[in-house]
Amino acid sequence: MKAFLLLVAALPALAQYDLVIANGRVIDPESGLDAVRNVGVTGGKIKAVSAKPLKGKETIDAKGMVVAPGFIDLHSHGQDDANYRFKARDGVTTALEMEVGVWPVNPWYQAREGKALINFGATSGHIPARMAVMKDTGTFLPRDNSVNRVSTAAEEREILAHVREGLEQGALGVGMGIAYFPKVTREEILGLFGLAGEKKTPVYVHMRNPGPVEPGVVDSMQEVIADAAVTGAPLHIVHITSMAFRQTKLALEMVDGAGKRGLDVTTECYPYTAGMTQLESAIFDTGWQERIGVSYGDLQWVATGERLTEATFKKYRAEGGPVVIHSIPEDMVRLALSHPGVMVASDGWLVDGKGHPRAAGTYSRVLGRYVREQKALPMMEALRRMTLLPANRLGVPSKGRIKVGADADITVFDPEKVADQATYDTPSKYAEGIPYVVVNGVPVVSGGQLRTGVFPGRGVRR
Ligand SMILES: [Zn+2]
Repeated sequence: MKAFLLLVAALPALAQYDLVIANGRVIDPESGLDAVRNVGVTGGKIKAVSAKPLKGKETIDAKGMVVAPGFIDLHSHGQDDANYRFKARDGVTTALEMEVGVWPVNPWYQAREGKALINFGATSGHIPARMAVMKDTGTFLPRDNSVNRVSTAAEEREILAHVREGLEQGALGVGMGIAYFPKVTREEILGLFGLAGEKKTPVYVHMRNPGPVEPGVVDSMQEVIADAAVTGAPLHIVHITSMAFRQTKLALEMVDGAGKRGLDVTTECYPYTAGMTQLESAIFDTGWQERIGVSYGDLQWVATGERLTEATFKKYRAEGGPVVIHSIPEDMVRLALSHPGVMVASDGWLVDGKGHPRAAGTYSRVLGRYVREQKALPMMEALRRMTLLPANRLGVPSKGRIKVGADADITVFDPEKVADQATYDTPSKYAEGIPYVVVNGVPVVSGGQLRTGVFPGRGVRR
């Protein structure tokens, strides 16, 4: 009798999920599903996607909301608590440092494991490895010893060995910023592509030169596409609009052309008309005005928000710090966002709440401004570029999907209200209209508010 009672008591529990997201409009770009469904989550995994009601220990009512795979940001330099909070409020469940990358790799992952709000990961970075070997005094980006000269043969071997070690520790590819090393040889770069080809993992690259003046974006694309062709390395070109500017159409045709010849080449953009980098970096060596197509007044000093002059440019360049570059035509942003296959990635980071608004508003801005207001691309397409395509680029089939067996990384947003709030003057404003964000089955945003004391994020490794 006692056993019978226990069995009866256990039955409803068996039918329960840890978490149910009920009555939402589930959009899954892989299957093309766009319908009202209930999603059941247990043990950090999606266990049911059903038209029938599901029972959960905890239930989120998503009526009127879109339920999408959590957004995956391939280009997120902000890799600390504060930045993860801005990412979560923007619907991002996985933020990855793929361009600059990290080195050494293991300590970087260890420092975040069990302590992160959202999922994290990084490439093995050529930039930090080369800075370490050549004893550059820069912290995030190079500024002197690795910029001013070519590496010796011994240094080049050591750099390559460092990047290899990072890959063997599970880094997600090879990160590269050729533009930050104006003297780096094409042979050194080719060697890194060779390593990526050997390991069958992508190179994520900020190319050598931007803009229309040769050597510019066309030369730069020819370099990396040729290197990919001869080594077999998959290639991901970062922030295409801030490299190509008015030549974005041509640059995208080159990406597509490479694909048609059987190469694995992808790209990304952020939904803003300005970029940001360090003013002391080699990007601003002599001739930058012609290369980027801007002048002093198009530069905005992040610390104060002021536009620069020749005098303040010199002063702040000697100090060093982040600068916003107003350089990308709005029609080129729309062109890239509406071009098939271009992923959305933020390239963002905030330091003490200062920086570029893309760190806090990239995903909500695409969904609000470009999908809802401008109708530059359909919702399904926008979500595909934020979820499925980055997951596929990473080679992580458990992410970027709402389907049984997938990781329960889920973003719930109001398609009528989702909007970025961050601006160039006030970049540290949380996005609005994203009431629930779930990471590995655990809500990190609930009722539009961040939850404290939860760290469900996990390291994503190759
Ligand atoms: Zn970059």
